[in-house]
Order: sequence, then structure tokens, then C-alpha cells
Amino acid sequence: MFDSLSDRLGGVFDRLRGRGALNEQDVRDAMREVRVALLEADVALPVARRFIDAVTEKAVGHQVLKSVTPGQQVVKIVNDELVAMLGGEEVVGLNLEARPPVVVMMVGLQGSGKTTSTAKLAKLLKEKQGKKVMMASLDVNRPAAQEQLAVLGEQTGVATLPIIKGQAPVDIATRALQSAKLQAVDVLMLDTAGRLHVDDALMAEMKAVAAISTPQEVLLVVDSLTGQDAVNVAQSFTAGVDLTGVVLTRMDGDARGGAALSMRAVTGKPIKFAGTGEKLDAIEPFHPGRVASRILG
Ligand code: GDP
Repeated sequence: MFDSLSDRLGGVFDRLRGRGALNEQDVRDAMREVRVALLEADVALPVARRFIDAVTEKAVGHQVLKSVTPGQQVVKIVNDELVAMLGGEEVVGLNLEARPPVVVMMVGLQGSGKTTSTAKLAKLLKEKQGKKVMMASLDVNRPAAQEQLAVLGEQTGVATLPIIKGQAPVDIATRALQSAKLQAVDVLMLDTAGRLHVDDALMAEMKAVAAISTPQEVLLVVDSLTGQDAVNVAQSFTAGVDLTGVVLTRMDGDARGGAALSMRAVTGKPIKFAGTGEKLDAIEPFHPGRVASRILG
């Protein structure tokens, strides 16, 4: 991921660094190239525009242009803005500070990696934080979705709510909460139903489930390979439910990276985790600084 963006930016920066002196026009020309590179990598247009404006404003200042290494300084400004665009230096983990069972609700489109990410996070909480976790699938749309989660539960050693066929999502959530309380579960993970597209029925269901389960975390799972579509999906979910964070899946793939770069700005919420493979331990806390370094080489 990010390879072609990284190459393009590398070219622009080598040229900037190679020149002794820079004037305002040089910076503006370079930023025009950076803008094109970002858009070709599928970064959302308003996000790219804001980024370029922020960098340009800082880079055309006298101190930068009059410094001994203006090219270097501009590259540093780009790096800092890139980190800011990805959410700042901090790695933002799950907030589980609430009375147990703490509910973590996973939302997203079908095929985004929601069920896999639910199991990955459950495994992480169990093994790294010693939490007692339960998972429940509210996905009554996709055939065998509930069974898929049960299988993942067996593979990870995490309990899953027994399946009762024909139950509606809100009723499953109610039963899951009762069961989690009875079993003194620390964290209850709700794997909600996906759809092929965001629609009113999906949003109504998400709201109803959130209303009865009062989740501490509502994580949007998006597939970074879907580029601009991922950005549109994020926009729709942000408008419909109170998200607390994002899980970006398929960061191991060869996406151009724009979805990852736009997600924070579009949702206003931190990217908390990155899915990096099909295996159940292929999930990592999202490090904005590391991702920026990867892009800038
Ligand atoms: P859901 O419909 O959103 O619940 O999607 P699933 O969790 O069933 O995932 C769909 C497919 O994507 C499965 O084959 C997963 O193994 C795969 N998958 C999920 N996350 C990742 C990831 O981070 N990297 C890769 N390479 N594959 C993933």
C-alpha cells in the first residue's frame, strides 16, 4: 500500500531538497504536484485541498524560505501535516472505562471485514488485556453469518452467544446483554448486520441496537481497498450513528491508500486499528506517525 503515492512524493521532495534556495512559487508548484499525487491515490478532494492549504500556509513563511535548508523544512511540514491528517502522534486504543459489560458495537458494510475484525479484537482483549469477552452476531441478513462468528469463537477461545434462529437483531442484543451480565463478562462485542449498501433500514437498525445496548465504542469497519467508496460509506455512517473510531481492514493489500488518508478527516474519529491479514492475530493499533513515515520513505 502507498507505493505509488510514496514514489510520486519522493520525486517531488528530491527536487525540492536538491535546490539551494526556494521561492514561494517553487513551493506552490511542488504543492500542486503533491495535490495531484494525493488525488490519484484516491484521497477525498476536500481532504486533499485542506492538506495542501495547511502545508502551503506554513511553508511560504519567511523563516522557511530564508532558512539554510528550505527543501528539508518543507518536507518536514508535509510530514507533520500528514501525521495530523492521520490523527496526530497518539495511538488511540479502545476506551473500556465503563461499568461492565462494556459494549463494543461493530458496524460496516457486508464484506468489509467486520466479523473477522470482531474476532480479532476479541482475541486481542482476551490475550493482551486478560478480559473476559463475549461475542454476539446480530447479522440476520447474511446466511451463516452467525455460524461464522461461532466458528471464530471456537478458534479464538472466546465465548459466543448461542444462536436462536429467527430472532431479530434488537432482541439478540438484549439477550446478549442479559447473558453477559449473568456471566460477568467484561466486554461484549456486537457484530451488527452488514448490507451491500448503506440504506435507511440499516441505519434504523444500528440506531435501535445502540439505543438498547448503549455501546461504549462504536467502531466502523471499512475496507481500505475500496478507495473512494470507503470514504462515501464512512460519510454515511458518520451521519447515521455516533461512531467512536474506525478499523481499517486490508491494510496488507495494495490499495492506493487514499481511503486510509481520508478516513480521519471524513469521520472526525480516530483510526484505532488496522487489519493486516486474514489470520486472527493480524490486527495492529494504528500509528499515524509510522504510516506517515512509510509514505514519505
Ligand atoms: P464481513 O461481511 O464484513 O463480516 O466480512 P468478513 O469478516 O467475513 O471478511 C470478509 C473477508 O475478508 C474474509 O475472507 C476475511 O478473511 C477477509 N479479511 C478481513 N480482514 C482482512 C484484512 O485485514 N486483510 C485481509 N487480507 N483480509 C481480510
